[in-house]
Amino acid sequence: MKKIHSLTGMIDLISNKVSKDDIASKIFYTENVLKNIFESYSISEIRTPGLEDTDLFKRSVGDNSDIVNKELYSFFDKNDKSITLRPEGTASVIRSIIEKKIDSESHKLWYLGPMWRYERPQKGRYRQFNQAGVEILGYPEGLAEIEIVSIICSIMKKLKIDDSVLKINHLGDKKSKQEFCIALENFLKPLATKLDERDLQRLNNNPLRILDSKNPETQKILNDAPKIKDFLSNESLDILDLIKSTFSDECNIEIDHNLVRGLDYYTGFVFEAVSSNLGAQDAYLGGGRYDDLCLELGGKEMPAIGMAIGIERLASLAKTLDKPKTLVSLIIISSNIEPKAYKIAHKLRSISDSINIDVQLSNGSLKSKLRRANKDNAAYALIIGEHELETETVIIKPLLDQNSEQTVMSFLDIESFIKEIG
Ligand code: AMP
Repeated sequence: MKKIHSLTGMIDLISNKVSKDDIASKIFYTENVLKNIFESYSISEIRTPGLEDTDLFKRSVGDNSDIVNKELYSFFDKNDKSITLRPEGTASVIRSIIEKKIDSESHKLWYLGPMWRYERPQKGRYRQFNQAGVEILGYPEGLAEIEIVSIICSIMKKLKIDDSVLKINHLGDKKSKQEFCIALENFLKPLATKLDERDLQRLNNNPLRILDSKNPETQKILNDAPKIKDFLSNESLDILDLIKSTFSDECNIEIDHNLVRGLDYYTGFVFEAVSSNLGAQDAYLGGGRYDDLCLELGGKEMPAIGMAIGIERLASLAKTLDKPKTLVSLIIISSNIEPKAYKIAHKLRSISDSINIDVQLSNGSLKSKLRRANKDNAAYALIIGEHELETETVIIKPLLDQNSEQTVMSFLDIESFIKEIG
């Protein structure tokens, strides 16, 4: 029969205990680290659906973005309604806040989950990938920027990510952004015949996005174009300097006035973290301020800043894994006593959070169960048979040190032993 394969650009993640898949374990670990960091900033979790009304992304991410132009997984449901697998998390978060009528309050939220973009797959670029994101809502420019960068530095520190640069820029307040866009348009309009169709479209709809063009001809033209830096107010420039000076002892921060993000909704401070260890797709997180999005989606005026982290890319850079928990393999050698022996494992688990107890559920011989325990890297095998149950004892066999002898311990002593190794 013809085998069924996973779709192009979509990967399975299986623990390395099962498949020797190291990146999967790093991803699971990274997700836990991120959740703990978000909680330590008192940020609350939000989960939104994977499927949304297509209009949500057209109106938020923007018609000029690559995502909406060519990467959306959109289709009609059985009711002929156009729906889309979310390509990013921010739009859904804001939709949800507006729908729950809590858009006049302030919120700090985090999410984690799969996103879908119909991109050309390559190293570090998938069609289904995972993003963790933080949205700080209801706070004007200032401390919220500092908090976001503080979170990024904490992530880099905990995962020991060096060889990384956090690029930051400011797209200007409303007035300076408008003045810069007019100057850019005036400069580019006489050169319009030299622009490709995409850039021409950007020029007409959102000239700022031209700075993001991948066309080398356009980039050459832009060399002589007006620079955003010359239009920024002192307040905007001060924010960049403040962030750089506050965190430069912790992470490598560079002001890059050419940085514009690929989504239409950004307004002021923007940033992107890149690492030369990632190859061509070198950005592993990015974000910025998007003060107008809530209003544009039909809600109240709500200042906001957020970021999205590509979990697969971040995990591939992560250098530390916490010390794995001590694994104890419980081997029951008589099928008559299984439930009673299982209950002992149940009790032992509650004694220490730093050990994992694997009760081998299959029938095999003691030898095959010991082989399995060794393969799983268990530190100890606890062996229980009818005799042990009668005498309220357990055999303990150390597995990591071949020279250690097995010993017999009473039920009471085994509890202290578990506390000791945990
Ligand atoms: P964006 O939502 O485009 O600002 O992306 C934020 C982060 O998500 C990027 O810095 C990447 O780390 C990650 N990312 C975006 N697209 C993909 C993709 N197709 N595959 C893997 N990671 C991605």
